[in-house]
Amino acid sequence: MSSASSSAVLTRRIAAWHLCLAAAPIVIAAYYALVRLDVSPGTQMALYVSANAVSALCCLYAARRHPVLRRAALFLAASSLVSVAADVIFYFQALVNDEVPYPGVADAFYLAAYPLMAVGLLLIIRRRTPGWDGASAIDAAIVAVGARLMLGAGPRSVSLRLIGGYLGLVLYPDTVYSIQTLNGTYQVANYLDALWIASGFLFAAAMLHPSAPKLVSESNAATPDATTGRLVILALAAMIAPTSILFQVANGREAQVVAAAAVCNVLFLLVLVRMTGLVRAQRLAAITDGLTGLRSRRYFEEALGNEGARAERHEQPLSMLLLDIDHFKHVNDTYGHNGGDRVLVEVTHRVQELIRPGDVVARYGGEEFAVLLPNTGPEQAWEIAERVRRGVGAAPIAVGPDRLSRVTVSVGIAGMPAAATTDELVLAADRALYAAKNAGRNRVAAADGADQLPASAAA
Ligand code: GH3
Ligand code: MG
Ligand code: MG
Repeated sequence: MSSASSSAVLTRRIAAWHLCLAAAPIVIAAYYALVRLDVSPGTQMALYVSANAVSALCCLYAARRHPVLRRAALFLAASSLVSVAADVIFYFQALVNDEVPYPGVADAFYLAAYPLMAVGLLLIIRRRTPGWDGASAIDAAIVAVGARLMLGAGPRSVSLRLIGGYLGLVLYPDTVYSIQTLNGTYQVANYLDALWIASGFLFAAAMLHPSAPKLVSESNAATPDATTGRLVILALAAMIAPTSILFQVANGREAQVVAAAAVCNVLFLLVLVRMTGLVRAQRLAAITDGLTGLRSRRYFEEALGNEGARAERHEQPLSMLLLDIDHFKHVNDTYGHNGGDRVLVEVTHRVQELIRPGDVVARYGGEEFAVLLPNTGPEQAWEIAERVRRGVGAAPIAVGPDRLSRVTVSVGIAGMPAAATTDELVLAADRALYAAKNAGRNRVAAADGADQLPASAAA
């Protein structure tokens, strides 16, 4: 019984991904032994191809096992399968012709594996990155998919590190292979094969590791957008093409102007798109309140100017509401600042659900909200204000894990053309709010309605 249970413990301890990692040195050793003895070319090929074949099988397994990873894993499997095809073609050419043409059919397959791999990795990056807006995709295009994966957001699980290892391991032999074939020093079964084989098994292990589904789990930190490190990498990437021309000219060589100019153009356009995105993100941050996600007071004032002018032009009514949470200091004092913040967020949700999509809601002050109601007359504004007031106070708000607090708001209403200018509109709404507070809170008051206190009495 004890031997049965200890073998069970052992099998549990030795996971499939361990076996994958252990297989790499064994396959590499067997492969080089056969190469050295110059025997059994079929087995040599089988050993060589086994890396990509195992990696394809493990991707297919991951696609089946982890539904969240399915699409990405299928692209990665396709990439590995195309690499298997490339390996087989390469080997047959090497065996039959004793010489592999470069670039040849095998290279076409090896190249085709890259976009498939890139799509698979991009799908993973996309799922990991909260608020994906294309900016990271552009960075990835500017720099490199692999570096982006390691630099970006999301948990760095074992699986991710194995993929990082794979990318590092595969980039080096790919580059050296191109250089060696170009200057005629490449020989089949040189040391590069060991790196390629190892990379295949490393990738397979990444797919088998239990942390594989975490590859697509979203980072809980916001994506670092314009960090110094990122900007430096982007700048260096953008400088590669023009710098290469400088070097070529300085060394008296003929500069590859056409290729460099094309690369420059693409990179400059990408950088421009990226900068436009950054400016837009800055603008959005400037007009967005960090706590509630509502528009800021600055945005509200801009919108008020535009809507005021439009209302005058088209002779349409325009209304605004000013809401202030009642006794909010008491909420803060009783439940702490965090409790107060929860109330602000929940009141925001409730207000947003109670108004029409075209109306502008802004956080006007600490616990004051402003709502702009274009093309809305006094009666309709009153109805909306009452709906919001009742809606906010309808149910208690969770201020802590199991603490509830009932919160009410007072609302002041003002409208154009009763107010002649937007400045007057804001003043009138403020006075109406003050009147609602004075009248006992949890109520609506209008600056020029039949039911409101005279503005002068409130002032
Ligand atoms: P009233 O019914 O007269 O409006 O009473 P009140 O207690 O709500 O008074 P007042 O409007 O003057 O209180 C505003 C309080 O809101 C004071 C300030 O500490 C708090 N506050 C402002 N901004 C924030 C914030 O972002 N978070 C939290 N938790 N509290 C805030
Ligand atoms: Mg206030
Ligand atoms: Mg208040």
